[in-house]
Amino acid sequence: MDYDVVIIGGSLSGAATATLLLKECPGLRVLILERSEKFGRRVGEATVEVSAFFLGRVLGLSQFLNDSQLVKQGMRFWFANEKTETLADASEVGPLYHVRLPSWQLDRSVVDEEVLRRAVALGAELRRPAQVTRVELAEGGLQKVAFRDPGAGGEVTCRWVVDASGVAALLARSQGWQVPNEEHPTAAAWARWRGVKDWDGAELAGKFPEWAAACHGSRNTATNHIVGDGWWSWWIPLKGGDVSVGVVFDQRLVEFPSNDAPLGERLREFLLRHPVAKEMLSEAAWVEGDVHWRKNLPYTSRRFSGDGFALVGDAAAFLDPLYSPGMDWVAFTTTATAALIAAQTRGEALGPLLERHNADFTRSYRRWFEAVYKDKYEYLGEFDLVRTVFRLDLGLYYLGVVSQPFKYGAQSLSVPPFSPKVSGAAFWFMQLYNRRFAAIGRERRRRRKLGRSNHRRRFFFQSFSTSPKDLPRILGAALEWLGLELTEGWRTWGR
Ligand SMILES: Cc1cc2nc3c(=O)[nH]c(=O)nc-3n(C[C@H](O)[C@H](O)[C@H](O)COP(=O)(O)OP(=O)(O)OC[C@H]3O[C@@H](n4cnc5c(N)ncnc54)[C@H](O)[C@@H]3O)c2cc1C
Repeated sequence: MDYDVVIIGGSLSGAATATLLLKECPGLRVLILERSEKFGRRVGEATVEVSAFFLGRVLGLSQFLNDSQLVKQGMRFWFANEKTETLADASEVGPLYHVRLPSWQLDRSVVDEEVLRRAVALGAELRRPAQVTRVELAEGGLQKVAFRDPGAGGEVTCRWVVDASGVAALLARSQGWQVPNEEHPTAAAWARWRGVKDWDGAELAGKFPEWAAACHGSRNTATNHIVGDGWWSWWIPLKGGDVSVGVVFDQRLVEFPSNDAPLGERLREFLLRHPVAKEMLSEAAWVEGDVHWRKNLPYTSRRFSGDGFALVGDAAAFLDPLYSPGMDWVAFTTTATAALIAAQTRGEALGPLLERHNADFTRSYRRWFEAVYKDKYEYLGEFDLVRTVFRLDLGLYYLGVVSQPFKYGAQSLSVPPFSPKVSGAAFWFMQLYNRRFAAIGRERRRRRKLGRSNHRRRFFFQSFSTSPKDLPRILGAALEWLGLELTEGWRTWGR
């Protein structure tokens, strides 16, 4: 056996797995095979509170992130209807002040290089560029990994293979485990832009003084979401001035421009239909060579691990970029995988651990999807609905998910959201209100009543904490939902 663990892919998931393993079992022989010579800019730039905990406290990057990246100030949403002409007329939902827990806006090419550098400093061996071309799995035995590199390439044997190859999902695809999530046909187009206006800058403040004074925190370092019927876009500022702007849409509801223009131009054409985007992009240009497209985003895997292999990050599954759960998923899958391998190294019986690992991640993916994302694009463009649902989603995320690592430490990240029995009631409640909001959105579309409250409304709130004292605020949002059911939702009861 050449290595104890071979990791396919050296980006965040791969390098984080190596780090966790080497911290837990310092003598382990870990090889990382990374295809690229140098990381290019990649999508996945906004952290949320769990991924920020993971990067900052578990991987120990807080100071590095404070020095080299931007501190993020929560999420903010912008709505418009046919009456809305300017940024100041658009309806807005977001925090009034700054948020309470740390998170960052990341240039992933910089952060991933640092995580990988630290994994190597801890003792991981790195081959780069080295592209894995074939894996032969033998449960409980020796795994074989073949790779191509600028030299003769080669083949290595190991006890464990960890697939951290991202959307390439080498193992899930080659073993026939990958399952597309056809209930959620989303697609995305994105680019980095230069010259996007500063939400907090003097120009917009001069043009719209009342609008500028209304928010007391920084709008510019939030993840701003400009939304419409069936779609949303992210606006993520990066250190140095570029801004990552992309659109995600439900292909059942939205027609993305399909003319012969370059993708960046079509992305602009799509965004300019919204008055807020029109203002923000009026002097901006997309960066040549940094424009991307991906169709049918979500997928999962029938298996997440076996005796000798495990899938982490995007190589395991992908849900939806809304609310930035991607790096949370990286935190959960890498922590659980490192715990699994460490347990085998200590000689613990693997059977029950593997069974639980597969069951936990299968349940987590499915429930996370149904509770938060299923049919969400039916109502994403509605100010009044998002105002309520965002506080329910966010408040419950803080209460049930974010609070766990802060209370119980990093090992709690080996238990993915919605997998414990105790989360059953929260799942039931969330999937119920999400289903109801989707029904209300669908009914508004059918009756041509979409976007009625999208003009000149502003809703600011205080960001959440991990304290149960925030429960009354969540209940307040639930009462708003009840009110909505009585005034409007009744039309779709029983359907
Ligand atoms: C539109 C969109 C927006 C998103 N926005 C966010 C966001 O704001 N916040 C967030 O948390 N997440 C976001 N995500 C998700 C996020 O991008 C991913 O969850 C995250 O990048 C996964 O990291 P990873 O290390 O698993 O995979 P990747 O970052 O894709 O890394 C995979 C690595 O494997 C290497 N590799 C691939 N094949 C091979 C091979 N055969 N041999 C060797 N090496 C190989 C690649 O070179 C690469 O370095 C978004 C995703 C999408 C699609």
